[in-house]
Amino acid sequence: MELIERFLKYVSFPTASDEESETTPSTARQLALGEYLAQELTALGLETAFDRAAGCVYGFLPANCDTDEAIGFISHMDTSPAAPGENIKPRVIDYDGGDIELGSGVVTREKEFANLKNYKGKRLIVTDGTTLLGADDKAGAAEIVTAVETLLATPDIKRKNIAVAFTPDEEVGRGTDNFDLNAFRTKEAYTVDGGALGELEYECFNAAAAKLTVTGVNVHPGSAKNIMKNAALMAADFIARMPAAETPAHTEGYEGFYHLCEMKGDEMNATLKWIVRDHDMAKFEARKAFMQNLTDYMNTVYGGGFALEMKDSYYNMRALIEDGHMNLIENAENAFRKAGAEPKIVAIRGGTDGAMLTYKGLPCPNLSVGAENFHGVHEFACVEDMHTMVQVIMHLASAE
Ligand SMILES: [Zn+2]
Repeated sequence: MELIERFLKYVSFPTASDEESETTPSTARQLALGEYLAQELTALGLETAFDRAAGCVYGFLPANCDTDEAIGFISHMDTSPAAPGENIKPRVIDYDGGDIELGSGVVTREKEFANLKNYKGKRLIVTDGTTLLGADDKAGAAEIVTAVETLLATPDIKRKNIAVAFTPDEEVGRGTDNFDLNAFRTKEAYTVDGGALGELEYECFNAAAAKLTVTGVNVHPGSAKNIMKNAALMAADFIARMPAAETPAHTEGYEGFYHLCEMKGDEMNATLKWIVRDHDMAKFEARKAFMQNLTDYMNTVYGGGFALEMKDSYYNMRALIEDGHMNLIENAENAFRKAGAEPKIVAIRGGTDGAMLTYKGLPCPNLSVGAENFHGVHEFACVEDMHTMVQVIMHLASAE
């Protein structure tokens, strides 16, 4: 099947994940695409396993030459719950600059999306303005399967052992919880889940979630003097002592932050939730220590009432990649150049499934897919760049 036809087929499956759900995968609709991908890999001739309980599809294609070398490629099947993901009506357009009228009165404006200027003269796949596109990450899936199909059709190209996997629930942070490293038969891989063509990522945040519970003392306001401890005001006092400029709205590049993402409260109880992020491990630990010290201090000031829970979510994969796996980065840079694209190493202000897999023991940098503006109606994929990504994956899989 041709790359774009395949991509449009994958996009026709609604696969939004769901943060609130406690099932695995978080939504049953992802399994329909999993089923389809498993059948497709089997039909191509790969050794295929579909772990329905985990929602993961694994495929393996042995080398066609005498080599032990192996490489893996991974993409996720779910789409972000942040925008509607059903009845996607994609449209391929010849883009010659200017604003793009998506439909339903929605316009992708050059003024707001400076990245559009990079696509003048190319073909773009856009939405009808009512849904996301799902190029995140079905473009990655289509590129991986097309690369494997092309390699099978051109046996003259000597290839390594190739493992592929398609995972659920990346968008809700649970993509690799049930990933089976034994079912995935290589020791190194790439996630194909990045943005604009050429992006190569092996550095992300260290991440933690912090929850502060404040317990007050409530009595009738008329007789509250020197008795009442208002939990809502105590919580506000805590916030006021946090570093005001160290938030997502005031930071960029390698600057870390505390992001207050929820607050609830009354006189008796208040709850505050933050996410804590920093690329640098020492600074990350210092951020968590700061919050704990502030909690202890507030307990001294108020005579108790503050309790902090913190849990690490994921870590920067850079140190682990640098420890013996920089070949993955060099190979990716070379593969991009051979395919005619300039590699650009970027530090992600977020995390990836690859970071989690790296910590599980599968070093896994992230490659671009050739699409942008993820998680909303302005998402688009570039036809030419997607074709280039197929070449990049083929170069990485080549044993020559
Ligand atoms: Zn993604």
